[in-house]
Amino acid sequence: HRCLDRMNVLDPDLNAVAHVDPDLTLAAARAADARLARGERTPLLGIPVVLKDNLAWAGTPTGNGSRITRGYTAPHDATVVARLLQAGAVPVAKAAMDEFAMGSSGETAAQGPARNPWDRTRVPGGSSSGSAVAVAAGYAPFALGSDTGGSVRLPASFCNLTALRPTYGVLSRYGVTAMASSLDQVGPLAASARDLAAGLAVMAGVDPADATSRDLPGTGRLADLQPADLRGLRIGLPAECFGEGLEAGVREAVEGALAVLRDLGARLVPVSLPHTPWAIDTYVLLNTAEVSSNLARFDGVRYGARVEAGGLDETLAATREAGFGTEAKRRILLGAFCLSRGYVEAFYVRAQKARTLIAGDFEAAFREVDLLAAPVCPTPAFPLGDRTSDPLAMYLTDVFTVTPALAGLPALALPAGFSGGLPVGLQLIGPALSDVNLLEAAHAFQ
Ligand code: GLN
Repeated sequence: HRCLDRMNVLDPDLNAVAHVDPDLTLAAARAADARLARGERTPLLGIPVVLKDNLAWAGTPTGNGSRITRGYTAPHDATVVARLLQAGAVPVAKAAMDEFAMGSSGETAAQGPARNPWDRTRVPGGSSSGSAVAVAAGYAPFALGSDTGGSVRLPASFCNLTALRPTYGVLSRYGVTAMASSLDQVGPLAASARDLAAGLAVMAGVDPADATSRDLPGTGRLADLQPADLRGLRIGLPAECFGEGLEAGVREAVEGALAVLRDLGARLVPVSLPHTPWAIDTYVLLNTAEVSSNLARFDGVRYGARVEAGGLDETLAATREAGFGTEAKRRILLGAFCLSRGYVEAFYVRAQKARTLIAGDFEAAFREVDLLAAPVCPTPAFPLGDRTSDPLAMYLTDVFTVTPALAGLPALALPAGFSGGLPVGLQLIGPALSDVNLLEAAHAFQ
């Protein structure tokens, strides 16, 4: 009840909620109460959670931040949602998001942008904008987002939260609306690594419904996360993430956090990820290609809204014209172009080769160091409207978050400090399947 009350007071201004279903929420809360009364004590029992609106929660709309899926109600739970419910978590809302998770600011959401609770004239970061605002504003202590190229880490850093993009495959994508399938991962957001770990503990593990899912080593250490001993830990600082373009205040905050890690015994080692300058181009090509094929299913026949316009082709075109926003249309067109005959070799295939080189950079770095540290973003939260008319500026927001995503690696965003009163995030990146170690390192820092 208190969560719902708080949301009712704050959300008319913050616009972080896409949908609430008080009956389902109160039913889940009562079920948790009954389990508590029977003496059950598990970390998530009765804990309010918020779910990004691209995750299926049976009986509620999966809106995807889009007009085109309006009216669609999920008949099933996403595996991650089912596992949270089984653990006794209580979903209190579906969270606003950029349309189909395409965006870095929350501003492509069909319902309009969410606002950053730290400064309501600024963006909260995206695409998991509502999930981050919900935790930062205290609607719930835990939220799920999704991270294709930075979408939990960026809003976490803009809203002073901790968020994990797990190793690709650690969290099932079953019941998650696909944006770019080779990159999409569900990711939790919370106030600390310890809280993330409690959630990950119940969600991780192979899911027969997602063939890319895999087991996470060390899952048993998550429920009661212990801080790592950082003495002697080698933390690599990629030169490409500390060059020009990094705002002075962000650099200062990140260096402050690195000094703390050093005081805890970590060794800071300069390293290089030489293919980083190609990362945004690579990401945009692969992302748009996958978007163009994944979004083909929104045709007015299978899901949600339909605009009738005579024949089937006309209806399909009218539905997609009215249903998709500008960014979705841009990516569908770009992606279809880069996959088309005559261009596929020059664009899609080359981007795949670049992806392999980027992954190779990380493999080489992890022969020298245990973890990598970098800023999450070159700037803190920017003003609403600042980048909406410049897609390139918006894509460049993700310059430090797309590389681990392309390599399928786990990456954690955690609060580093402040710049001009705005939160700044530090990113810790680890080798594949080192998610638990990353969380333990972050816990030692926090
Ligand atoms: N901002 C990036 C994009 O627009 C990443 C989004 C995401 O991770 N879902 O694609």
